[in-house]
Amino acid sequence: MNKRCAIFLWYHAPVKKKIIVGLDFDGVVAYSPLRLLRLPVAVIKRNVLGIRETHFWIPKSSLEKRLWSLAFSTSVFPARGTELLAQLVDDGTVEAHLVTARFSFMQDELDRWLDRQGMRQVFTSITVNKKNEQPHRFKERIIKANRFDYFVEDNLDIVQYLASRTKTNIFWIYNLLDHFIPYPNKFPYLKKALQELAG
Ligand SMILES: [Mg+2]
Repeated sequence: MNKRCAIFLWYHAPVKKKIIVGLDFDGVVAYSPLRLLRLPVAVIKRNVLGIRETHFWIPKSSLEKRLWSLAFSTSVFPARGTELLAQLVDDGTVEAHLVTARFSFMQDELDRWLDRQGMRQVFTSITVNKKNEQPHRFKERIIKANRFDYFVEDNLDIVQYLASRTKTNIFWIYNLLDHFIPYPNKFPYLKKALQELAG
């Protein structure tokens, strides 16, 4: 191939567009044993207490905040797939954005976790629920503002809410207890979701 031809081909080669992916933190990027509690809590909320709308309790007093932080301190392990995520970001396939509805008082712990795992540089942006909005509405707002191609979330109530209100592909990370619930894009852990979206 002569030089001019090679330059022509290089110039006209299709530029692969980066896949813009938003990721929830607890239960998606970090593995949380607490996730298993969510289904019973959801069932009690719906069937015993008769609460049908999506609404999340927000801790207010300092004792509530301390207990809440303690509960989330169990999100200690990086989820299966964080290495693949770093790799996809490195090779330019994916642009990753962390969107967590963790309340403002939990930001320090999140920062420490990201530094400890050496994961801060994986994310182009890190958005925390600073104004303590309802998690589903906060995520809807961020997803729409950033026009993510995909958003990966583990809370089914939030998944269903976002799937019906945004144009973004919402991927659900299910757990042992709710794996039987039908949903078109459901995955057992982050790695499987990333393999699907990155082809
Ligand atoms: Mg979550």
